[in-house]
Amino acid sequence: MNIREAKLRNEIAQIAQQLAKTGLARSSDGNISVRLSNDKILITPAGAYKAWLEPQEMVKIDLNGNLQPRHSDMRPSSEYLMHLAVYRQRPDIQAVIHAHPPMAVALTLVGQPFPADLVPEGLTALGEVPTVPYARPGTAQMGEQLKPYLSKHDALLLDHHGSLTVGKTLKEALIKLERLEAIAQLWMLANKIGTIIPLPAEELDFLKEVGIRQGQHPLKGEPLG
Ligand SMILES: [Zn+2]
Repeated sequence: MNIREAKLRNEIAQIAQQLAKTGLARSSDGNISVRLSNDKILITPAGAYKAWLEPQEMVKIDLNGNLQPRHSDMRPSSEYLMHLAVYRQRPDIQAVIHAHPPMAVALTLVGQPFPADLVPEGLTALGEVPTVPYARPGTAQMGEQLKPYLSKHDALLLDHHGSLTVGKTLKEALIKLERLEAIAQLWMLANKIGTIIPLPAEELDFLKEVGIRQGQHPLKGEPLG
């Protein structure tokens, strides 16, 4: 195993602990992966308790889902097809985190779209966060369902299920995930104590533009509508 792979295994274990600690993925929920090369990834194993994951437990697979080496008896996360869909469609992406952030997922339970325009960082750092229609976890349909959204978004909510954030590094995907949950939490809190006053339209336009300049989806490279 080379130094880079060893480092990435450690990093996945650290992020798994962070997800468990912050309640973004409890129990054996969620899964984390990182690209090792053009056609190979490292992913968390099936059914693992996130807080206790060890670096050597991460599973190596290729983009067709074959174990590396093939005779390995390790089992990748049951949701690996979702990760493969991202790596196949987005060569720019190096890391994928699927979590079950409670506040953000609660929004999907009541059909509430994600309020990206609630605070400036929603628009500048996340961009629009669409909710992908429900698909049964672990099925091929889940990966299929994501496809129309992947080219234009780095953060997605999965209806009645969880979140998916992607990045050029594991840390970037984690930062997006934490921000997603923080905004959902703020939205809930604000709704409990009063009626939300939106940011002025002019400011929203400005923030969207900043988001585009910073490479946020979905308006990347497209004129402001
Ligand atoms: Zn899940």
